[in-house]
Amino acid sequence: MRSEHAPHRGFSVGITTISATPSGLRLLCPRCGQRRLFTGWFAMRAACPHCGLDFKREPGFYLGSISINYGVTALGTGALYALLVFVFGTSHEAALTAW
Ligand SMILES: [Zn+2]
Repeated sequence: MRSEHAPHRGFSVGITTISATPSGLRLLCPRCGQRRLFTGWFAMRAACPHCGLDFKREPGFYLGSISINYGVTALGTGALYALLVFVFGTSHEAALTAW
């Protein structure tokens, strides 16, 4: 749902709209910038009361980032473990304890 109240200030990549705007950094609605995203310290609104933008993410929204994060973490940790054991001669127990 696009608001007629204010122009969208983000940018689009494919079908995904990314709102890297100053209003987003100030925790305001990324579409209209009129209302705050949170009602308290940990309570986020379900939708913007001004423009109606739905803040809820669909199931699986974070699955791609979780998969990439897991892969990068596993490769990085394995590489650092191998560096400790095979380059610096650290014992396996000490390397496992460190990681
Ligand atoms: Zn809004």
